[in-house]
Amino acid sequence: MKWHIQPLAMEASSPRYIRRQEYKKPDWLIPQTHLDVQIFDKFARSTITLNVTRTSDTSEPLVLQGEQLEFISAFCDGVPLAALQMVLTAEELTISGLPPQCELKIISQTDPYHNTALEGLYASGDMLCTQCEPEGFRRIAYFSDRPDVMSIFTTRIEADLKYPNLLSNGNLEQTGLSEGGRHFAVWHDPHPKPSYLFALVAGDLACVKDQFIRASGQKVDLHIYVEKGNEHLTSHAMDSLKASMKWDEDVYGLEYDLDLFQIVAVSHFNMGAMENKGLNIFNSKFVLADENTATDDDLARVESIVAHEYFHNWTGNRVTCRDWFQLTLKEGLTVFRDQCFSADMHDEGVKRAEDIKILRSVQFSEDASPTAHPIRPEQYSEINNFYTPTIYEKGAEVIRMMYHVLGKDAYRKGIDIYFERHDGQAVTCDEFISALDAASDADIQTFSIWYRQAGTPELTAARKGQNTIYFSQSLAPNAANTSTDPMPIPVKMGLVGKQGEAIAFSIDGGPQKTDHLVMLDSADKTLTLSSDSAEIAGAVPSILRGFSAPVRLNHDLEIDEIAHLASFDSDKVNRYEAFQTLYKQAISARMTAGPDEKLEDILGQAIGRLLADASLNDDFKAISISLPSQAETEQAASIGGFVDPVAIYWTRMALGKALGNISQSWISAYIADEVHQHNAASRQLLGGALSWGVLTGNEETISRTEAFALHKNMTISMAALRALNTINHAARERALSHFHDKWQDHSLVMEKWFSLKACSAYASDIEALHRLMAHPAFDFKNPNKVRSVLGSFCSANPVHFHDQSGSGYQFMAEQLARLDAQNPQIAARMAISLTRFAHYHPERQKLMCDALRQLAKGRLSRDLNEVVSKGLTSL
Ligand SMILES: [Zn+2]
Repeated sequence: MKWHIQPLAMEASSPRYIRRQEYKKPDWLIPQTHLDVQIFDKFARSTITLNVTRTSDTSEPLVLQGEQLEFISAFCDGVPLAALQMVLTAEELTISGLPPQCELKIISQTDPYHNTALEGLYASGDMLCTQCEPEGFRRIAYFSDRPDVMSIFTTRIEADLKYPNLLSNGNLEQTGLSEGGRHFAVWHDPHPKPSYLFALVAGDLACVKDQFIRASGQKVDLHIYVEKGNEHLTSHAMDSLKASMKWDEDVYGLEYDLDLFQIVAVSHFNMGAMENKGLNIFNSKFVLADENTATDDDLARVESIVAHEYFHNWTGNRVTCRDWFQLTLKEGLTVFRDQCFSADMHDEGVKRAEDIKILRSVQFSEDASPTAHPIRPEQYSEINNFYTPTIYEKGAEVIRMMYHVLGKDAYRKGIDIYFERHDGQAVTCDEFISALDAASDADIQTFSIWYRQAGTPELTAARKGQNTIYFSQSLAPNAANTSTDPMPIPVKMGLVGKQGEAIAFSIDGGPQKTDHLVMLDSADKTLTLSSDSAEIAGAVPSILRGFSAPVRLNHDLEIDEIAHLASFDSDKVNRYEAFQTLYKQAISARMTAGPDEKLEDILGQAIGRLLADASLNDDFKAISISLPSQAETEQAASIGGFVDPVAIYWTRMALGKALGNISQSWISAYIADEVHQHNAASRQLLGGALSWGVLTGNEETISRTEAFALHKNMTISMAALRALNTINHAARERALSHFHDKWQDHSLVMEKWFSLKACSAYASDIEALHRLMAHPAFDFKNPNKVRSVLGSFCSANPVHFHDQSGSGYQFMAEQLARLDAQNPQIAARMAISLTRFAHYHPERQKLMCDALRQLAKGRLSRDLNEVVSKGLTSL
């Protein structure tokens, strides 16, 4: 067989799809697996021994997956397999004529040192590590590489002594020396698992140790492995891990199930982190962090990712997915769990507002794009392309809706039923819904439609006369061509009286309460509100409190009513939402007829009240004064027409300047008071003050901001640099260059510098990007570095990416072609930016499609081909 290094390439063509409906149970099971990996200087040799069992009395051959492997030999019960029994292709090994039960041994080799796709076994710096989800194990050894084939793994790793750490899943059973000055370690994982949860690490690393005592009393050893010299950057990750373990015991009653939990930080990593059983592998960016090198946001992200991966131990590992169409079963649920954990660790309202901002920016955009799909897709060409905001974030929203309908106790009962029924199994989303449904009388099954239909439902609330609200819902056709039937939409609502008080009211004659949860389960519904309180007259409805469903809300509130909610709503999320609505309306007015003075005046007053309100925390004030993201603004502006992303960017900046002018005296006072540098919430607001302050052009503010750019606290330093990056002022270059000189030897901090340099509206043209990629700290083989330059450029530099000449699109197409040859997964992910053109003017759509067409002329990976062809066929 031919020795492949490069990923399989194909001409751009219509992708071959795998369909959910075509799922077939496995014909063969593998209850036990012994894997022996011998690591040498040029290659790694895998000897895999599988105890295989045929599941039915059909005579289907055994089909094992293997890619980028050099097949050496195979044996059945110790006897070499005859060539006639085997068919070997670049992707599969098919073996026929096996007895119904036997021991199969297969030997193969792979080259981890030239594996730039970072799937399977690969080198990252001086260490070797693995990434198997979703289909990486087949690049390590021949196996039935599908999540419903679960096996008990024993793993022996043998390597040169230059790799003192030899790690795998489960518990360490044996270590020793072997021939030729080499050594080995044997690991045994007692829990059956699919191959995607397998992991292996060989390296010379520092190990930071701690312990956790489980609720039932047993001790768990906690080990975090990092490159030597980075030990001091692990305490936040370790604390986060212990907090997660405690939270899962307290809230879900779930304890850890091995004696050892290990985390390894890796510099070359495609994703954020991976939940391999007992051996999580992390992008080093999400482990190594302290307040000198990471911002408060970074620290919060480390905490939430550590929690996310840990929580997978139950939701994903103990109960896993039957097939990859069910990915949201583990991801939606685990995101929901990590969101609740973060809300418990910090401020619930602020956390929810941050999550909504992300959902609207990235997931709503996906719903409106050629790559739209339901949270349980019906088909895929390359499953790597489905690790999306829809599967993750929208998946979490769907679980959150069911949580609200069930209530906390019934939800927990449903989760208990889920584990009672399915522990140790590979299941479907339907089985998860059924377990929740069994927990109460509420009709949870109706939520299964959210798993089938793509797109963002639009919810309209219109007042009809006194105290009557007419709700209607609609769903636009989407690129996945799923149906557009009415969905169950839980709507939380309240009434805010003239003095800002919460009014108790009843709906259609029911009990009087200040908060109601209404199910809109048909195309429309009329609600009649009544109250013993005379204050119901003139009260403002607060609809979709807590963002109780992932929908786009239209309402008929007047500007001063929205401002009233911004100042008085007891629901923090809707208070935040009211500000967002006012900003969007102000931007929209500026885009069409120029500044709406009345609106901006009302907005300025609401902001003044917010900033002066001593009962509110600074982090809530900070999120409330953050303008809607570029993507959110584009969506809002695109209703009923095309938008110009460059004009939107400049209008957002102009509004920031106007609001900065209104808030000038508050800004000067806030940034001058040193007390605001000492806690995370105040630092967040300090960032907001600087961002508006510099836009006003006030020289004193700019020079204070320039000084902040060198602050020893990374949050303050980055807030200052981000602010300066939005203005055309010599202070920007000076500050960035000082920052560069200070941090040039710190790889992770340099990613921040790359990102800032790549997204300035003033300085980051194509020439500047080429210079960045020639910088000695840049590494085209490192996904973090590529994301910090190319990812920042296409997602956060609308002015140059969307330059009307099309040069930004062409540049991305050239870079993606180059990137695809080494790392298809990252190339496909970034190519998505070229397909998000649905709400742009036709001339711009054409330029973006030209770039896609240029890409399509080359030989593309399956990953990139799927994205490019979806983009092109959507026109
Ligand atoms: Zn996950």
